[in-house]
Amino acid sequence: MREQFPFFAAHPDLVYLDSAATSQKPQVVLNALQDYYVNENANVHRGLYRLAFATTERYEAIRQQVAAFLNAAQAEEIVFTRGTTDSLNLVAQSFGPQTVRAGDEILVSAAEHHSNFIPWQQLAVRVGAKFVVAPVTATGDTDPAAVAKLITPRTRILALAQVTNVTGGLVPVRQLADLVHAVGGVVVVDGAQSVPHMPVDVQALGADFFAFSGHKVYGPTGIGVLYGRLPLLDAMPPVQFGGEMIDEVTDVRSTWAPVPLKFEAGTPNIAGVYGLSAALTFLQAQDWSTVRAREFQLVTALRTGLTQIPGVQLYGTANSLGIVSFTLTGVHPHDLATFLDEQAVAVRAGHHCAQPLMARLGVPATVRASFAGYNTPADVARLVAAVAEARGYFLGTD
Ligand code: PLP
Repeated sequence: MREQFPFFAAHPDLVYLDSAATSQKPQVVLNALQDYYVNENANVHRGLYRLAFATTERYEAIRQQVAAFLNAAQAEEIVFTRGTTDSLNLVAQSFGPQTVRAGDEILVSAAEHHSNFIPWQQLAVRVGAKFVVAPVTATGDTDPAAVAKLITPRTRILALAQVTNVTGGLVPVRQLADLVHAVGGVVVVDGAQSVPHMPVDVQALGADFFAFSGHKVYGPTGIGVLYGRLPLLDAMPPVQFGGEMIDEVTDVRSTWAPVPLKFEAGTPNIAGVYGLSAALTFLQAQDWSTVRAREFQLVTALRTGLTQIPGVQLYGTANSLGIVSFTLTGVHPHDLATFLDEQAVAVRAGHHCAQPLMARLGVPATVRASFAGYNTPADVARLVAAVAEARGYFLGTD
């Protein structure tokens, strides 16, 4: 698989362990971007010439591909966005004020990425709702029992990551969705970290809305997806106005195009959509049980290796989907990451856009290693050796 990623030929010595931040891109995705610009570059939903028709047709065919990929009931339920952040903000800004009233409750986990935390917090402030943050487990994972306990008849929205970005913990969304639906609420699922690691069926999941980013699933940056159940999307007002999202515009009023176009104001990221298509085809060609087994092997090897180093504290569990977060007592995570970089090992260090989680774990930051299909046991060995060396460098041997 690694050979399909030109990045590794350009960086033969680099150990890339930051795929949860962004994945590398296979040649097929790079080809798709070039194919659009070289062969099919025209705007969509506008031109009255054959090339523009063909490009529009392909763009809409890719919408169908994404719908099939997520098992959405129909293509109209797929909105192209700039990414997960954009998708979640769209729901919070459009569906939110329409649905959530003063005194209602919006429920999230303390393990959420800021993109699935702040939009809801700000919505609550705006409409006078209660923003409820469920506690996490001791390992920093979303605690389904704690979330379930906080669902009340006033819960209008439950917003959860299916896989969290600091620990890689998988959340049993379906169980919680059933509880929220029973009180008349909706479930918004942040799939930024799940789509790269597992097949997703939005209907089986009980998701009313589902968001993910192209760049984390081997696709380009600047393209993402919002899935929404059609009756919900239909009733929602647009939040961005401009070209191609209208039905009719006069001096005094405007009416909107049907979904999904009413949410895609302006020229969309057409090249990104082409690239996303290639990335999803690439992802679908994988055998998920093999992917899962390999990731489990890498996570287990890394956790085992790090456990041998005195002072290493691990977060999450062995069942994490391709993410291992840790700290080394006495060494700031930023210093550790800088040391690792000097050994050509790229990891992420920081709060991972999850400050509420860091506060609960009682640390300012962690180091996070995250895997994709191109990582190997040799990458794990390099990281473990470099952390052991860092310990000697910063703390001396004892
Ligand atoms: N949600 C989770 C769980 C993430 O890990 C990320 C990115 O790290 C996001 C949301 C935001 O994704 P993007 O920056 O692509 O919008």
